[in-house]
Amino acid sequence: MENEKKKGISRRTFLKTTGAVATTAAIGGGIGLTTLAGDVEAAPADISKAEIFTSSCTMECLHHNLKAYVVDGKLVKVESCEADETVACLRGLARTQWVNHPERIKMPMLRDGEKGSNRWQEISWDEALDLIVEKIKETQAELGNQGICLRSFSGNFGSLSNAVAASFFNYLGGFTPVVGSLCCQAVTGSMTPIFGSRYEDTRDSIRDSRYLLAWGNNPAVTMQSYFKWYQEAQAQGAKMVTVDPRFSETAAQSDEWVPIIPGTDTALALGMIKIIIEENLYDADFIRAHSSLPFLVAETSGKPALEDEEDPTSFLVLDEASGQITRHDGPGVVPALTVRNTAWASQYKTQFDILADECRPWTPEEVEKETDVPAASTIRMARDYATIKPAMLIQNMGGFQRTEWGSYAAAAHMYLAVLTGNIGGRGNGICDAGGVTTSIKVGNAIPSPKPQGEFGAVRGARFGRDILEDKPNKIGFLWTMTSSIMTQNPNTGAVKEALKKIPFVVTVDSLMTSTALYSDLVLPCTTIFESENVLASSRSHYVQLMEKAVDPPGEAHDDLWIFTQLAKRLGFGDAFDKPVAEHIKAVLEPTGITYEELLEKKCINPLPEVYIPFENGIFKTPTQKAEFFVYDWHEKGFNPMLAYIRAEESVKGNPELAAKYPLACVQRKTNRTIHSTFGSLQWLNQAVSDVPHVMIHPDDAGPRGIAHDDWVILYNDRGQHRCKANVSAHIKRGVVTAENGWWEQQGGSSSYITSDFVEHLSGGQSCNNTLVQVRKEG
Ligand code: SF4
Repeated sequence: MENEKKKGISRRTFLKTTGAVATTAAIGGGIGLTTLAGDVEAAPADISKAEIFTSSCTMECLHHNLKAYVVDGKLVKVESCEADETVACLRGLARTQWVNHPERIKMPMLRDGEKGSNRWQEISWDEALDLIVEKIKETQAELGNQGICLRSFSGNFGSLSNAVAASFFNYLGGFTPVVGSLCCQAVTGSMTPIFGSRYEDTRDSIRDSRYLLAWGNNPAVTMQSYFKWYQEAQAQGAKMVTVDPRFSETAAQSDEWVPIIPGTDTALALGMIKIIIEENLYDADFIRAHSSLPFLVAETSGKPALEDEEDPTSFLVLDEASGQITRHDGPGVVPALTVRNTAWASQYKTQFDILADECRPWTPEEVEKETDVPAASTIRMARDYATIKPAMLIQNMGGFQRTEWGSYAAAAHMYLAVLTGNIGGRGNGICDAGGVTTSIKVGNAIPSPKPQGEFGAVRGARFGRDILEDKPNKIGFLWTMTSSIMTQNPNTGAVKEALKKIPFVVTVDSLMTSTALYSDLVLPCTTIFESENVLASSRSHYVQLMEKAVDPPGEAHDDLWIFTQLAKRLGFGDAFDKPVAEHIKAVLEPTGITYEELLEKKCINPLPEVYIPFENGIFKTPTQKAEFFVYDWHEKGFNPMLAYIRAEESVKGNPELAAKYPLACVQRKTNRTIHSTFGSLQWLNQAVSDVPHVMIHPDDAGPRGIAHDDWVILYNDRGQHRCKANVSAHIKRGVVTAENGWWEQQGGSSSYITSDFVEHLSGGQSCNNTLVQVRKEG
């Protein structure tokens, strides 16, 4: 970096990042920026003299417990801790390179050119904090607190990060949040009402499974540390089947690869359910005891019939023993699965009847027409999943549910698991990310006051266009942290314009990320190993102490420090201005774990030795049964149970658009990044790839004159993404995969082309219902 003093500005440095200018003029954001090479000289440190500290790898991943080796105040090596049951991946170990990155931001940086031009003035913290207070007050005066927006997400699950931000902005009086998880809103939107909770993780008994159905998910990459357990199950005779448009790393390890047209998964599931019902392969006893499928739905209202309208658990069933309609949970009641051919058939259907009706058209041949899955594969999967027990469905926030009707697709897995009794025992269930919050309650470091007034929300899936259209209201001040909107949120072109439109954007980060580039003020923050924190989250099986191992570079600070300084300026500093230990104690308080115990043990597993989600079929709903009728969907005018609807942005759903953009494009996670985190580390770029790729079938590449390794452009009406062609039969014809996680400085995100359609039922994103065309560059 070239720094030169600007006259008349105390402690400021005028910065223009020249570095090694990347060849980005024609691609992505179309701006020349540093390469983010991140080269770190090898440290010839004597490890035997190292001090050792522990922390946690805290982005949206497996939260490995990590060990830092520090020599002469410098982090020289990262390793997995023995306390962890699996080992960290290369990304976790590459944190050495992140902490020591030569381009770490060391001082607050104030924009000194067009947004995106990467021209900055270095300013002091006092100047930065005063400016933020001034902009907050200006926004409050002009737009009210509704004009203040906070975007925090999955870049840091430490308990003194995002939760502290929400508390801060609620102390201010409230803010407009960004809602709809980009990862798994459709799973949340379906599993929460149907099973009563989320983040119920089956990882402890993967080894016990005899049939592993990886559906729209690639655990060989996204759960790579645990994948050895899948292989152990296979070694003991388990069959593994992968449903994916791409011959993924998991498909390569499977007994069968089932390629499918993106967004048609629910049709496949309905076809399997039809076979399971018609061949009597379902577990009738389990369904009667543990699900709402026998509950009656009144023909007149279309809603479940209740004994007492004031008691939402008083569902009625037809008791087979007495032939009478009665409460589902009365003594000795044997609920009938169907009321067909009974005197009640004109008034009611059971939920099982409704399901049977819904799947009736989905013969294996119809499934094949819609999904391209061969009829024989549908039949085989249905029979195997229902009869080879225990069977586990590997869903784990997979890409199949980031589609326009993703909630139905996620719910379909729940139907399959419950219908076949494949849930609540060792080796079965639906594999989801999960952590300590299933078993213990975790406290909030700074309890959040109630917001004052009514606040709408910006939809994460449609962030760019919502901001540009002032939905739900005009935003005058945006605080972004632990996330990178410019790489992760769909329709990056609109996101970029939105960031330009918002009068004052603050980004807190450790490196000049794509989002930081389009901000007005960038605040330098610490990474793990540079400040004390605690991790107790819905992704980790451990409560982990995050120790400070080294000093941060320059004047980087953690989120808690930043918000404390602002809170003091704004008159509510008392709630924030406490020793870190006090905040950690507040987080631990409901867990029963003391701070002293955590200081001693560093990493504590509060879960039972083998955690079985919904053990013995006891769900976390009010009835303790799987409740398939989703009232929220009914109230929104959608089918409240399982249904298949074609996506609007799909070849069959929109032939006119498909004539222009005939290829279905799905996003692919690689083991180079977690979302966009780690994207600038040279070790990873060297080990995996330093350029983005698109996988395209030879039959799609050939007619377009595209050869393997050619530079190509993926494009549609939203934008374009430049990458290299990986011409391979490991992808279904008519489908291409774009890689997630590339920074603006590396050519730009594949989200430039992704759909910003908001998932109908849950408000999640639909990036895997994207149509594109591909052309050879030049
Ligand atoms: S990136 Fe994920 S798998 Fe790798 S070390 Fe970190 S938490 Fe573990």
